[in-house]
Amino acid sequence: MTHNNKVALVTGAGSGIGRATALGLSKAGVKIGLVDLKDDRLENVKKEILDSGGEAIFTDTDVSDPKRVEQSVKEIFEEWNRIDYVFANAGINGTVSPIEDLSPEDWDQTLSTNLKSTFLTVKYTIPHLKKRGGSIVITSSINGNRKFTGFGMSAYSSSKAAQVAFGKMAALELAQYNIRVNIICPGGIETNISQNTFVEKTKLDKIKIPIVYPQGNHPLGHRSGKAEEVASLVQFLLSDQSHHITGTEIYIDGAESLL
Ligand code: NAD
Repeated sequence: MTHNNKVALVTGAGSGIGRATALGLSKAGVKIGLVDLKDDRLENVKKEILDSGGEAIFTDTDVSDPKRVEQSVKEIFEEWNRIDYVFANAGINGTVSPIEDLSPEDWDQTLSTNLKSTFLTVKYTIPHLKKRGGSIVITSSINGNRKFTGFGMSAYSSSKAAQVAFGKMAALELAQYNIRVNIICPGGIETNISQNTFVEKTKLDKIKIPIVYPQGNHPLGHRSGKAEEVASLVQFLLSDQSHHITGTEIYIDGAESLL
């Protein structure tokens, strides 16, 4: 897959799906603006890219904060004078709780981190993508779209369903500028997302409906997905190889959500 000197902005680039995508794109010759909350993991991704001969910068950004997202986009644009690809991916599971016990603040945190961030990332990159056309990929989930048995994940699932609607609105609106927008819906993927998951375990028992899969819930391969498998889908959707695909959600879950 050739990318001809392209520049990508990747949110949530310090870990999991964002990290794997940043590393994969870099191997294909793309310059990467790594966007995440600054910690050692983010610096390590940058180091890994530089050590392998690629180009990357990182910006310390809370993706739910409009000013910081605007500043991050500015810094990445000023580094290379272009932005071609956008991967709006950062997200959290947030607080997993029955609706009656979920605080309005916890609801807001999940919606801001997952949904408002997607709007902000797309909004502030549009002026740059408009110049030559471009491609945006948004990370949603099977939850909220094809699966509703993640008990206690009402805030998360709502944010993930809304990301699909937003992506389709954006695809139509931005088609005139040759900007494509697609949405990926992963199933269970091995990442560090459990570190951003706060489960109200005792309270959850009162809303759980027992569901048993005697042969496991991953029909394909009997395992969770890997971040690298998701990254290769994202690379395809960002590249010209998918040039007639826009406004589409794609499930990457080994048929987990069809069970
Ligand atoms: P991860 O925790 O490994 O990576 C997420 C990254 O987002 C982290 O580096 C984290 O620091 C960053 N992040 C979180 N809040 C942020 C904020 N406010 N500002 C900036 N960065 C922030 O998890 P992951 O599984 O790679 O998650 C990536 C996306 O994939 C998320 O949107 C998640 O909802 C989605 N997803 C994950 C799975 C799964 O099973 N892992 C399944 C479906 C969808």
